[in-house]
Amino acid sequence: MNIENILKRYKIPYIVNVKAFNVQCPVCPKDDPDNGLRCGLFKDNSGFNCFRCKKTGSLDFILDKLTNGIYEKELENDNITDTIKKVFNPETEIQESVKSYSVTLPDSVPVTKELCSKWYILRSFLKKRNISIETCQQYKVRFSIGGKYPLRLIIPIYDNDKLICWQGKDVTDTVKPKYVFPSHAPIANYFYFPTGFQKKNRIIYIVEGIFDTWRMGNIAIASFSKKLSKEQQLKLLKRNFSKKIVFAWDSDAFRESIEAANDLSSLRDGVGIIRLPKGQDPDSMGRDEVLKLKIKWM
Ligand SMILES: [Zn+2]
Repeated sequence: MNIENILKRYKIPYIVNVKAFNVQCPVCPKDDPDNGLRCGLFKDNSGFNCFRCKKTGSLDFILDKLTNGIYEKELENDNITDTIKKVFNPETEIQESVKSYSVTLPDSVPVTKELCSKWYILRSFLKKRNISIETCQQYKVRFSIGGKYPLRLIIPIYDNDKLICWQGKDVTDTVKPKYVFPSHAPIANYFYFPTGFQKKNRIIYIVEGIFDTWRMGNIAIASFSKKLSKEQQLKLLKRNFSKKIVFAWDSDAFRESIEAANDLSSLRDGVGIIRLPKGQDPDSMGRDEVLKLKIKWM
């Protein structure tokens, strides 16, 4: 967190000391207010300490107080992207927001037991990948029989209940590309959130693909690629997001995960990585084995 940028942005008077930025204390008693600049916000982001009233606490808390709650509100509302962009990098031009677009699912039917009994190719794919019909139903997975994308699992991708994209996975394992997306959907701006995902989970794992998140349960989100976009990074900076984020990309993407974790750790605390054994991904290993791996914190 760049404290000085925030103070400037909210026009809060301050002086710079060796270890802290000093501001007028917003929590000194009302009948004995701070008439100097005696509340220190520590440059190492460890919190604040008022030298008059002796109160201490987190930066978030004191910034809320200093801005009469505006700081809190801005972080919570939908303009978070712009807010954090300004806070972390005031020189960055705010990019034009993503043009409005709409996505519709291709012709397909929900995956059910009946459907699987009719379609051997679907049934054997699910069996081979160890995906249950219950999982398909939980994630609203569909199957495209014909049309433009024949014999593909159609997996809808939502962001806050809005359909933003879908992924079509070839179930014959013979057709390329293995995965298709609607080309106009800005998928790189988003993550795949599994059903029941809680942003406040103690630790959240970032995995590459949708099947990885299914295997990990409600503690993992998928990045779809081996690099985080600016928009994805910004989602992970929201304050209501988990305190700890661990990269768990496929074993062949370990190098990329170090880069991404380094990048993210310059913006927030609590970033770590795990190294998957050669040839493995979270889907092949399973949740329990992934959770046993030692986390290296950045
Ligand atoms: Zn005080």
